[in-house]
Amino acid sequence: MLCLKGFNYGELERWVRQQGWKKFRAKQLSKWIYSKKVGSYEEMTDLSKDIRNFLKENTKLNVLKLVTYEKSKEDGSIKFLWRLEDGHTIETVFIPEKGHNTLCVSTQVGCAVGCTFCFTTKDGLIRNLTTAEIIDQYIQTQRLVGLDRRISNVVFMGMGEPLANYDNVKKAVQIMTDDRMLGLSNRKVTISSSGIIHQIKKMYEDSSFPQVRLAVSLNASDQKTRTQLMPISETNTLEDLMETLNSLPVKTGYRIMLEYVLIKDVNDRPEDAHRLARLIGKNKKRYKVNLIPFNPYPGSPYERPDEERVNRFHQILWQYNIGAFVRWSKGKDISAACGQLRKKEIPEEKVSFLTAESLKR
Ligand code: SF4
Repeated sequence: MLCLKGFNYGELERWVRQQGWKKFRAKQLSKWIYSKKVGSYEEMTDLSKDIRNFLKENTKLNVLKLVTYEKSKEDGSIKFLWRLEDGHTIETVFIPEKGHNTLCVSTQVGCAVGCTFCFTTKDGLIRNLTTAEIIDQYIQTQRLVGLDRRISNVVFMGMGEPLANYDNVKKAVQIMTDDRMLGLSNRKVTISSSGIIHQIKKMYEDSSFPQVRLAVSLNASDQKTRTQLMPISETNTLEDLMETLNSLPVKTGYRIMLEYVLIKDVNDRPEDAHRLARLIGKNKKRYKVNLIPFNPYPGSPYERPDEERVNRFHQILWQYNIGAFVRWSKGKDISAACGQLRKKEIPEEKVSFLTAESLKR
């Protein structure tokens, strides 16, 4: 059964016309789904009973079912675990920050990229998420945390490689940035890729892909270390990746974020920082570097560097006038930090106690 959250606005209008309804029904549906974020067709009170019944019988409104959630005592971020209709589970993280709220969404069940520091990847790729499954992470989370805590920023940094699920992610971004739908600012949506060169090029050449921010996981300043951490680097080499990133038509205010997970004794030495600075070279205005101290998980092969080492790395980049920031990951105590999301097998359980109020506490 189709889910209306899988349609961009043009498709929604076309579908509405196919049912023999007037075009303005698309606007009404959009208002209920994306502005009011209702959870059932009954709540769409300005639609006739016949239309509501038709919708109920022929379409579905929600594709995710909440299994459970964990709230971080450290910083208030909330990790949600959802069950998909085929039984697989995915995670989404809500991150409250000063003045804005960010949502980290998943785009695949598992991931095929196989970064060796990543917890998500252990079972490989199971499948791509549909557009509706991506959008429903936003809408259902917003309903649960309360509409007054608007999610203004979205990062595609959860489970999966977003550009390996290109078409569904593109449509989700269209829905997110369309003023008739979720209406987020383009600059507040970030696609984070492991660095699949041809897909990055495709995204920039594709005029129907809304121009949003790009983040690329770099994680090393030399080919050997990067390949050790990210096997994808064997075919998408560091040199080719940097050449591509240096040539992208990046709009002012849309600096590319280079994500760099700092791992003790692997890529966190002063010489790594100097090499990274040289790699960026004269293109420093094009990039911002996010330094993310690694978060060890049970059985992880790597360790987190101490604060002094992180600060040293940071300072070296600043000496070269490179905009670099340390991102101490949010939600460490609930394994919601970068590269730590992982599908879990959790038995069906009742979640009827869950309300927006209980999440605020
Ligand atoms: S870090 Fe991202 S791209 Fe790499 S394996 Fe994990 S989910 Fe996939």
